Amino acid sequence: MALESQPSGVIFWVACNTTVTAGTISFIHKILSILQRIAHSQNEKSRIAEEVEISDLCIEFNLKRIKTYQTRLQPPLKKCLKALGTSRKLADKPLADWLRSFQGFDDDLTGLCRFSYQQRSSPYIRELRQHIGDEISGMTKDESRKQDFLLARHYIGRLGSHLKAAKILTAAGWRMPELFDNFDIRIRPSPKAPSFPPPTDGLTTLEGIIKRMLPAQSNEIERYQEALAVMDNKFQILDRLQAQFTDKDFKPRVHAELNLLEYLYNNRIPFVGDDRFIGCSKPACYCCYHYISLHPGGFVRPSSHGIRYLNWRLPDPIDDTNLEEERHRRVILNKLIAQIRLDALRQIDQCRGPSPWHPDSTTGITNSFNHNGGQIGFRVHMSTKPVEELTSETLGDYEQQSESLAATESILSDSLHEDESSDSDGGVQLHVDF
Ligand SMILES: [Zn+2]
Repeated sequence: MALESQPSGVIFWVACNTTVTAGTISFIHKILSILQRIAHSQNEKSRIAEEVEISDLCIEFNLKRIKTYQTRLQPPLKKCLKALGTSRKLADKPLADWLRSFQGFDDDLTGLCRFSYQQRSSPYIRELRQHIGDEISGMTKDESRKQDFLLARHYIGRLGSHLKAAKILTAAGWRMPELFDNFDIRIRPSPKAPSFPPPTDGLTTLEGIIKRMLPAQSNEIERYQEALAVMDNKFQILDRLQAQFTDKDFKPRVHAELNLLEYLYNNRIPFVGDDRFIGCSKPACYCCYHYISLHPGGFVRPSSHGIRYLNWRLPDPIDDTNLEEERHRRVILNKLIAQIRLDALRQIDQCRGPSPWHPDSTTGITNSFNHNGGQIGFRVHMSTKPVEELTSETLGDYEQQSESLAATESILSDSLHEDESSDSDGGVQLHVDF
């Protein structure tokens, strides 16, 4: 979502990875109308009721997702309870009792969401954190146990997130009434997916890819080929790559934030307060993060979960007869390729295998497992079981695929140019006590 500034009011631009449905538009309209009411009335008492109204709307709109969170919370919860049941630590019994309380809501999803939100500052959240530790580095028995605690905490956070969103929205209506005075909603439709996977040729091999990633005659080629062969032996990278190119259901997709970004950029649409921020329901993926960061439009750099989706693709040109736009696409693509190449070679250097699972949505609990800050690396998830089980949590937001080094093949086959990255600051920060 992005906010366009017009003399008549604010236009809320909306894009989605699939199709923006009439139900979604109606939901956004209802929320904006409540915020307009808050903005006009500036009444502290009614504001509380309006916050409840917004949270109820959010829960109702996301019922399917919430049900999924509830369902997916149960297996790790059971495993956590089992682990705590054998613990001799005194503090583990009350933690187990507290975790058990998340099992008792059945169809009362609103109750479960409210309870989860209320528990955000519970000392047990901190205890869960202690069971997770600082880093999960593999899938040993101990790490798998840590992951159960991580997942339990994540889903509890997700369940409470709609209440948190309602609080933020209400604060926005209260503090920035001018945004909602006279609003309009516009949709940027998502482009169609291509009918076929990208074509391959005889050079679509790991050796061929590495060759194209390095300068001609580089004396590093052999070293990288050997390292990649070791990784391939372990992780079957080539098989996975080839499987993608023969999969009829492989549909490269333009992620919503980039669809919107290029439309706004090419049409020189003015942002509210010149704050070139594109809000998204999730942190950006690896490719979108770098695309936005490297873009000449000075857009606010988003947070990122660093995950790469194999079916990520570039936005389509707005006007394919416009040579300037064509040049712009080429420049940004080359910058992106340079970044991916850098990260890929670094990873091959380290012969790093799959990363453990981490969510592509934020947990929503302050001081949570932080994957938003710091350097955005080249995270690779190559079908460890938890990834396959869990990545569909996005419920169609992203067509999730397991990631592999080979994901970048089609991009990396292009010519490469070095370029500098751009940076930007901005974004409206709302300080709200949760
Ligand atoms: Zn993305």
